[in-house]
Amino acid sequence: MNCCKDPDPQYYPGMNEKGWKCLSCNKSIGFNPDLDRSHILEKIESIMQFLQMADMAYFSNSSEGEYISIQVKEACKKRKEYDQYTIILEIFNIIQPRHAKFYKTRTLEDEELENRRNRRNLNKLFSNITAEDKLY
Ligand SMILES: [Zn+2]
Repeated sequence: MNCCKDPDPQYYPGMNEKGWKCLSCNKSIGFNPDLDRSHILEKIESIMQFLQMADMAYFSNSSEGEYISIQVKEACKKRKEYDQYTIILEIFNIIQPRHAKFYKTRTLEDEELENRRNRRNLNKLFSNITAEDKLY
């Protein structure tokens, strides 16, 4: 890495994995596969923060966030892949099922409510029609 005597690597999501910077000397480190491995948890947490800042995902509290980042770290180690896409894929592998299920249910509930509202409006409409108005 060779940026300063007391490096403090921090990852900022960037094109071509060139996101490493040193907070001690403010130098850009860029792509660094050694840091990707040695500081994978920092890379994962940084990507999670950016997903949250972009309103792409929400991590409800710090212990949930920690739980997710540790699981993603294990998944990356198992795959021997430490790139942004793998990290994002593994984050969403964890958080997507519950999210999708919740919003799928919401959609179905919304459709059911809409159907009920339409039926009620139709009933109201037909109840206003008197017997004389009806064609037999
Ligand atoms: Zn430095």
